[in-house]
Amino acid sequence: MPFELPPLPYAFTALEPHIDAMTMEIHHDRHHKAYVDNLNNALKEHSALQALSIEQLLARLNDVPESVRTAVRNNGGGHFNHSLFWNQMKTGGSPLGGAFKDALVAAFGSEAAFKEQFVKAGLGRFGSGWAWLVVGKDHKLAITSTPNQDTPVMDGIRPLLGVDVWEHAYYLKYQNKRQAYIEAWFNVVDWADVAARYAAK
Ligand code: MN
Repeated sequence: MPFELPPLPYAFTALEPHIDAMTMEIHHDRHHKAYVDNLNNALKEHSALQALSIEQLLARLNDVPESVRTAVRNNGGGHFNHSLFWNQMKTGGSPLGGAFKDALVAAFGSEAAFKEQFVKAGLGRFGSGWAWLVVGKDHKLAITSTPNQDTPVMDGIRPLLGVDVWEHAYYLKYQNKRQAYIEAWFNVVDWADVAARYAAK
């Protein structure tokens, strides 16, 4: 099968107490796995598409046959988004600093103002989806959000950081308190990883 579930780069308990171990286990081993399995199933009869990277596939959704396009959009988006999600978090997070912090402060005014706008984007996403920090087509940092498993990559935009605001990402510990979840989640953001993605442009 062309696409594989990447192993979680740390233990299920690594993000405690901000994200609980049971949520991490179900989220990675069941939800992310299902996206990968369903994506591979959708591509079973489409060997040319299997040769593409996940980013290439999502950037060319219009070339995907209509019969499987929705499945590729939902499950390919889910695979890409979650692969990024795990890697931009670590135990205790890492501080925002250096040239990337300067760029973030220049774009949003301050670290606190960025966080406030990012939380607002997550809260404003009705139902299920994601809030994102991206590098826009104008090469500027921006905050955006997407529904379901849509991803900025589908519009040729580079995501640097994303928070999953599907209930499966937080409901066991936070129930309906999405804001408390996003605010706690900032404690495990690995800003060094985000900065490296920014620098790799
Ligand atoms: Mn999720």
